[in-house]
Amino acid sequence: MNKSDLLNLYNLELEELLKKSADFMTNNIEFCSLVNARNGKCSQNCKYCAQSSYYKTNIDAFPLLDTETVKNAAIDAKKHGASRFAIVTSGKTPDESDFDRIVEMIKEINKIDGLNSCASIGILNEEQAEILADAGLTRFHHNINTCKSYYPEVCTTHTYDERVNTCRLVKKYGMELCCGVILGMGETVEQRVEMAIELAEIQPDSIPINILMPIPETPFENYHDKIDEENILRTLAIFKIANPKSVLRFCGGRMRLSEKHQELALKYCVEGILTGNYLTTTGKKPEDDIKTVKKLGKTLLCTTI
Ligand code: SF4
Repeated sequence: MNKSDLLNLYNLELEELLKKSADFMTNNIEFCSLVNARNGKCSQNCKYCAQSSYYKTNIDAFPLLDTETVKNAAIDAKKHGASRFAIVTSGKTPDESDFDRIVEMIKEINKIDGLNSCASIGILNEEQAEILADAGLTRFHHNINTCKSYYPEVCTTHTYDERVNTCRLVKKYGMELCCGVILGMGETVEQRVEMAIELAEIQPDSIPINILMPIPETPFENYHDKIDEENILRTLAIFKIANPKSVLRFCGGRMRLSEKHQELALKYCVEGILTGNYLTTTGKKPEDDIKTVKKLGKTLLCTTI
């Protein structure tokens, strides 16, 4: 589907648009959640991010956790029903010693019966992608964040193309790819459609949808009104129509939607939820998300912590 087809769909009556998106939905909802293994002190200047060292945000920075701590957290997650455990770190790319330790952590997680490993550790080179695949990593998370035409307004210390290259390496080495966006950073409707098309070219297995939660002291701290609830729903529908085989996953910022709009999104466009807290913002308790899934008559596919 091309840009003008998607723009025409975007401008349909909302109900009609949501029904078109629903044609591509299963009745399943997947849950996952994350563990922050390294926080803050990032060399990059992403204008939305609490972890960038360019901005004086109020976060507790900490270096990479040790392998034993991560392993114990993984064992604990398994006890609570997890089937996937994700290591998430700040930074453009892991330095050599952090990378070796992360590979060690992945191998430890894979030894735990019934637990899959997942990682979100920044931009990769070819050698790193191959090492992660050889270590048995099942899924890698790396967002494009916004479309190519808007990327320079969001970050100038690395490029959109570097991000897409990492996504391509993940797929080249046979790992599953989780790749999404942050909405509400000042992009136009056309640029939301561009994101949908660019994601369709990348073909992620899962598309995390974040809605900007403006962080004090970042350049986007006042970006509270760059997207409204109806336009969030319209964008989700367009993403689903352009990416029918990918699971759209509600992530950070979904609390900006009312309960009613969150439920509409889950009914018509979204088949995954990152439950619990996010990296630097608060989310919803898994128990509350489970109640919503039941209320909508959906099937909870798996629990991932
Ligand atoms: S590279 Fe990641 S951690 Fe660093 S500023 Fe950008 S989004 Fe934040």
